[in-house]
Amino acid sequence: MNIWTLAEQHEGKLKTVSFELLSWGRNLADKRGGGKLTSILIGSGVKEETLKELIHRGADEVITVQDETLRYFCCKTYSGILEALIYSYEPAIILAAATSTGRTLMPYTAVKVHAGLTADCTGLEIEDGTGNLLQTRPAIGGNIMATIKTPDHRPQMATVRPRSSRPLKEDHKREGAIIRFTLKDKFPDGTGFPSQKKDRTIVRGYRREETGFANLEEAEVIISGGRGLKKGENFGIIQEIAKSLGGEVGASRDAVDRGWISYPHQVGLSGKTVSPRLYMGVGISGAIQHLAGIKTSETIVSINNDPEASLHKIADLAIVGDAFEVLGELRKRLKQTGA
Ligand SMILES: Cc1cc2nc3c(=O)[nH]c(=O)nc-3n(C[C@H](O)[C@H](O)[C@H](O)COP(=O)(O)OP(=O)(O)OC[C@H]3O[C@@H](n4cnc5c(N)ncnc54)[C@H](O)[C@@H]3O)c2cc1C
Repeated sequence: MNIWTLAEQHEGKLKTVSFELLSWGRNLADKRGGGKLTSILIGSGVKEETLKELIHRGADEVITVQDETLRYFCCKTYSGILEALIYSYEPAIILAAATSTGRTLMPYTAVKVHAGLTADCTGLEIEDGTGNLLQTRPAIGGNIMATIKTPDHRPQMATVRPRSSRPLKEDHKREGAIIRFTLKDKFPDGTGFPSQKKDRTIVRGYRREETGFANLEEAEVIISGGRGLKKGENFGIIQEIAKSLGGEVGASRDAVDRGWISYPHQVGLSGKTVSPRLYMGVGISGAIQHLAGIKTSETIVSINNDPEASLHKIADLAIVGDAFEVLGELRKRLKQTGA
């Protein structure tokens, strides 16, 4: 009874979230004992050494289906392939990332294979005794954490928030099989992959949205502003400091709701989950929904004039003071160091 994680690729390159899923999967597989951790990769042009990285990052084996027609994600096509693999291999658990790809593919596939699906999990565990997957996610506006299990149906399917775990370190001593399929191949029972002839959608390519783009998920440094900044124009100094540190600008939902900054910058439960080396929250109280998006940050700095602010309590460095005075001083020091 194996555990699967769905790797994501774009233009032949693996996305980091593929390794984060393997870190969750490895933990679950080790707790369950027995059974393999398999990474599934559907796509095109992914090279042998790239596939081996999945093994080095925790997978016991890789099953890959590659074809030029699978270069770009298309829900119906990818789902047909996944469904065929599920019926042939019967995995116990399937984990995908709660990215736009995972959030589209998993529910579509879960319906077809008559399985349950828990979306947007922030925690996964194995239940003692039964081996069931315990899937934890925020519920009721993020005010409680609900743990869901699927005792009667298999596979147990879940999407997991990107950045909710860190990839395992690469271990080049790890070895595992790489099982390759083309779309023409058959399984031992004579079944194969569905024909794409009748597919009504062909994805020709992707174009990146340039306006309002904020690459928070990949950023090493994020400086975020909240309601304590008083007005939208004051994001200027945050922008300046973020730029001099080679980082990105984030925001609380309050700042976004006030129209001070656009939604792609929002960090938290209904925004982005981030995992930078440095997260600095300025004039942000630290509501539970904001904290949900920053908990895997390496170092958290909070600047707030309220000594009781919740963000101070979880911060590695809590600066109690006026945001504008502290930011002004920081800008001065950064200029002195030539940053
Ligand atoms: C379903 C749901 C989803 C949500 N999702 C998100 C989400 O994704 N992200 C998110 O952020 N929130 C989210 N929220 C909203 C969240 O509950 C809070 O309302 C929000 O995070 C508050 O934003 P804030 O910290 O900027 O504002 P406030 O809570 O008002 O905090 C402002 C802070 O600024 C400080 N301050 C004021 N003046 C200064 C000054 N001069 N110098 C220094 N500090 C100062 C204050 O002491 C205060 O702590 C969600 C809520 C719900 C119900």
